[in-house]
Amino acid sequence: MFAKEILNLLKEEIPSIEYERYIKQLKISEKNSKVDRIVYLAPNILLAKWIKTKYGKRLAKLYESKTGLKTQIEIIPANKSLQQVKSSPPPKPTLQKINPTYTFENFVVGSSNEFAYTAALSTAKKPGKIYNPLFIYGGVGLGKTHLLHAIGNFNLKKEKSVIYATIEQFMNDFTYHLRNDSIEQFREKYRECDLLLIDDIQFLSGKERTQEEFFHTFNELHSENKQIVLTSDQHPKEIKGLEERLKSRFEWGLIAAIQRPELETKIAIIKKKCELNKIELEEEVIRYIAAYMDSNIRQIEGILIKLNAYSSLINQKVTLEFAKSILNDQQDEEEGSITLYEIAQVVSTELNVKLSELKSKSRNRQIVHARRIVIYLARTLTPNSMPALAQFFGMKDHTSVSHAMKKVKELINKDEKFKLQLEELTHKIKRLALEKQQKLFT
Ligand code: ADP
Ligand code: MG
Repeated sequence: MFAKEILNLLKEEIPSIEYERYIKQLKISEKNSKVDRIVYLAPNILLAKWIKTKYGKRLAKLYESKTGLKTQIEIIPANKSLQQVKSSPPPKPTLQKINPTYTFENFVVGSSNEFAYTAALSTAKKPGKIYNPLFIYGGVGLGKTHLLHAIGNFNLKKEKSVIYATIEQFMNDFTYHLRNDSIEQFREKYRECDLLLIDDIQFLSGKERTQEEFFHTFNELHSENKQIVLTSDQHPKEIKGLEERLKSRFEWGLIAAIQRPELETKIAIIKKKCELNKIELEEEVIRYIAAYMDSNIRQIEGILIKLNAYSSLINQKVTLEFAKSILNDQQDEEEGSITLYEIAQVVSTELNVKLSELKSKSRNRQIVHARRIVIYLARTLTPNSMPALAQFFGMKDHTSVSHAMKKVKELINKDEKFKLQLEELTHKIKRLALEKQQKLFT
């Protein structure tokens, strides 16, 4: 086995300070290593990932040059195999705290969330007076919980009594008190507050007993003009397994949707998060992350924290190259194979052009533009040849395809925003392809 030797070879290639800091920390995992897979152990997960990113390919090359064999280099945290799952104590229902950083001031407003933000703010200012209930819905990681807490924080400052709970907590609490014969205590708690904030109400679906209880809680609070705010991943009408009488009550007040943020809002949110977490990033890095990542802000935050952790670990600023290597690394592991159809599908939704229009002969500017983008992305992301694409789009021959390519390239060179938009589309397509692939295996 050459696992040890290649570390020595690497030692000669890299600055000794790097060797001391990272490579020297590695131990060979004899029991996991084979000829085609060498496993090293690093002291922790951060170092493991970092060393893999920075030296993984090089180590594999060294191994190949030494033995003529291709091998896979794995670096895992040493404690992974030792980790023990602690058994958690039996759940005792407690109310969740309101996160003090989820405030209106820390919420970045853009056209995707402006309506929900304004509704939440006016509700916070005049609880029980304007919209009751306020119902906020939208996809994962778009800021629903944030707005809910913001309403809570705003009113805690005014010494109002606020209850925040996920519907699951409400349910657990309910069952707990039922069992303990203390249902009156439960009712007192939820019915004697100025504001009741309930998160993820979609999980009421199919829970008949809890729906019944929640119905009475709702009525009691509502008739007392106490404010109720609910969030969900869907419009009340769309929630399956929810009693009609609840659905109709949820529509009594105001229903506000949160959409996925556009690029500019994403950028502003990233800046805000950097400021709050004291992370310093260059403008170009921020723009890259915004274009690269999907609209789930929770995931974006995760990436920021990760970049920051790496950068302080190695004591180096996060450059664009550095950010790319980490984000691409993540993507390499995830990449699926992309088809022309997926490209057309994503471009059609994002640019608001029908699939049939893309394949039509329409000369409408918007459609022509979208069609060119599909052609460009198909040429760069799939093995489709120009004649194949011409055939797909019902074009006379490949010259129309190359004309489209030329137009897009020109635009890339002169329009930075367009370039970013293309990157964003690319990542969406890759994600879609990946999701499809994963579905095939499950
Ligand atoms: P949801 O409840 O919709 O799944 P969250 O409210 O938990 O999403 O938001 C996920 C993360 O993204 C939180 O850290 C939140 O602060 C942040 N976030 C989402 N939207 C915004 C925004 N417009 N401005 C600032 N932070 C945001
Ligand atoms: Mg949430």
